[in-house]
This record gives sequence, C-alpha cells and structure tokens, in this order.
Amino acid sequence: MGLSEELFDRAVKVIPGGVNSPVRAYGAIGIAPRFIDRADGCHIYDVDGKEYVDYIDSWGPMILGHNFPEVKESVLKACEKGLSFGCATAIEVEMAEFICDHIPHVDMVRMVNSGTEAVMSAVRVARGFTGKNKIIKFAGCYHGHSDAMLVSAGSGVMTSGVPDSAGVPKGCTEDTMTAVYNDLDSVRALMEQADGQTAAVIVEAVGANMGVVPPKKGFLEGLRKLCDEYGALLIFDEVITGFRLAFGGAAEYFGVTPDLVTYGKIIGAGMPVGAYGGRREIMELVSPVGKVYQAGTLSGNPIAMAAGLTQLKYLYEHQEIYKDLEEKGKRLYGGMEKILAEKNLPYHINHVSSLGSLFFTEQEVVDYTSAKSSDTKAFSEYFKGMLAQGIHMAPSQFEAMFLSVAHTDEIIDQTLEAVRNYFTK
Ligand SMILES: *Cc1c(COP(=O)(O)O)cnc(C)c1O
Repeated sequence: MGLSEELFDRAVKVIPGGVNSPVRAYGAIGIAPRFIDRADGCHIYDVDGKEYVDYIDSWGPMILGHNFPEVKESVLKACEKGLSFGCATAIEVEMAEFICDHIPHVDMVRMVNSGTEAVMSAVRVARGFTGKNKIIKFAGCYHGHSDAMLVSAGSGVMTSGVPDSAGVPKGCTEDTMTAVYNDLDSVRALMEQADGQTAAVIVEAVGANMGVVPPKKGFLEGLRKLCDEYGALLIFDEVITGFRLAFGGAAEYFGVTPDLVTYGKIIGAGMPVGAYGGRREIMELVSPVGKVYQAGTLSGNPIAMAAGLTQLKYLYEHQEIYKDLEEKGKRLYGGMEKILAEKNLPYHINHVSSLGSLFFTEQEVVDYTSAKSSDTKAFSEYFKGMLAQGIHMAPSQFEAMFLSVAHTDEIIDQTLEAVRNYFTK
C-alpha cells in the first residue's frame, strides 16, 4: 500500500468521500486518488514520489505550467505585506483596469472567490437588470454548484428544472430551464415557453464539463440573435475558456460578444478567484452603487490578485502563447486521432485549441446525450493504463485534458507513445 492509499483511508473518515471536491475522488475509477506533493512545469509528483505528466493543470489555472517563476515571485512578494486586509487595495484597481482595458466587452468587473460565486452573481445581476426571472442553461454545461444551476436535463427540454442534487428546494430551480447544447431550436422553444420572461441564457462557449464539446458553426451567433430578439442577456461562462482560447477567451476566439462574462480558474493562477463583468449599464446595478446585492469578505484578496494579475499580464504580453497552444493541441489531439485510425478504433476526439477529450463512443459528440453514450468503463481502463505509464489526466470521461505552455513537443510525443502503447495491448 502506498502513501496515497494510506492518506485516502484517513481522509474518508474525516472528509466526505475523502476529498474536498467530488471529481478528485476517482469515483469512476475504483482506486484511491493520487495525493499530490508538488508540481513543476508540466510534471506533478505524488506523495510516493512518482512523477507524472499532468494534463489536469489544476483544471486550467496552470496555463503557464506549474510553479511558473514570475507568478511564484509575485505571491511571495505580496505575502510579505500581509495576507489579507478586507479593505480596498491598489492591486484590485490594477486588476480591474487590466481586464477592462483588454477585454472589449468588459467595462466593469467584480472579483469574487470562485467560479461558482461568479456565475451565481452574474445570474443575479442579469435578473436584476432585466427584471425577469427565467434562466436558460444547457444540459451538460457546468456553472458551479449554486442552487439555481444544479439542474439536470430532467424529463426533457420543455420542463422547468428538476434539481440535480438533494438539498436543493424545487423553488430554487423552478426558473431554470434546460436546453440542448448546439440546438438553437431548443432555445427558441424555451424562450417562447417563457413568454418574454427569460432574463439570460448562460452557456459554456465551448462545453468543457461534459468532455469537450465545441459549438457548431452558428450556434453562438444564433444565441446572440435569440437573446436580442427576446430581450434576454447572453452570459458566457468563461471560467475555463477565458484567457485560454485567446486572451479575450471564447468571445474573441469565436467573435461573438456576450453581455456578461464569468471568469475563474486562470484568472487566479491557482489561487481561489473568480470574477464577473460586462457592460457598464449592467454592472452599475451591483451593490454598493446599485440594487443587486453581492459581497465577499476575502474578495480581491491581495495574494490572489498578485498571482492572477501577474499571469494575465504575462499572457497578454506573450500572445504568441495562444498560437503555440493551438499547435500543441493539434499535435496531441491530432496525434491521438491518428492512433485511433491506425488501430481501427471507432472512438471520437473533440478538441478546441489546448482543450480536448477522447470519448469512448462511436457517436459524434455534439451535446450531453451523445457525450453520455460513452463507455465509461472503457474510459476507466484507459485512465488506469495511462496513469501506470506516468500520464495524469482527469479521472472522468466528462472532463477535458488541459495543455499548458510547459507541455513541450517532446512531452506530447511521449504522451502519444503511451496512448499508442495502451491501445496496442
Ligand atoms: C469550474 C467551473 C465553474 C465553477 O468554478 P469553481 O471555482 O469550481 O466554483 C463554473 N463554470 C465552469 C465553466 C467551470 O468549469
């Protein structure tokens, strides 16, 4: 028994499921999760000292690689001045200015502590601004764990939300409607059903929490049009895609402008940070200037701002990174596609730039239903086979692989060798 197994035995007695966030539990895999000791560049090391190539990257924040020197320095420097004041600081202003100066659709921004909070707050502002209550989300899109967002596809797209979790009163999800990703007709139908009462459509511009599901051509543009036609706001949840697909996120990458945007993950460079922002007239509704209440004792925390702002500045000043990530994505996911073809395997790979997923299904994956057609047992075997070869991926069929700047061509080619090996057995 290794140290990870020992720690997991202790953990399950004092932490529900032994983890502080469910996906870490290797639920579908059936072994103890690797407990991580440290990470550097594209490598991560478990408590038993085993080295892995890491494709989780803390679920996205480590776009520059683990332990990126400039980010680390900025955190150490900020720590010397104190960990938190709960008062206004200069670096919060710098962070907000930097985002507003470089993201055309963000005139004002509010920092929070997680993606969940960012979405919860953006939805509240959208409702406050429009004076309407209904929200349309998409089956398979994850927007954090606030009550109103924990809604399953339920019994079909024409019903209002059935809570996806115990402890969520039906009243909290009554106004959440679920549409089908990549299906504009399903959105129009809900807009009609809501009878002018849709406050907002919220979408992951690239689905990345049902595995990676890219938007079909015209899908995001169509959402923009439908929102304008029905007087609803369009919210892009860019917690994963923001500052990743392009500096301006999916909005820039696909050339579609949302009214509100939510950020998380990359914006904190590994510290717990989220943010939401958008047009001035909407954001001016947020307290203390406006009537939409939203607060946070540790929001804009100086250590988190130092880490996040340093990473954002680096990304902005080195935008060649985005072309590089695009190339790395083609090398890795394109390479995997080739291997599948070589081995006559009918599985599908979806990818957008640095994000990608191998789906163990013969169907094209375009929405939640097709994603769920995947053979999760086959995924679980693949995961274990890859882990044994030193490749650390998300322990779920329904998560993305994250490439960072630190994944060199050589590392990617080694990873492809491991994939080939696995499918050769
Ligand atoms: C991770 C994620 C969230 C939630 O962020 P947390 O920081 O985990 O609360 C929201 N939306 C998307 C798209 C995410 O990937």
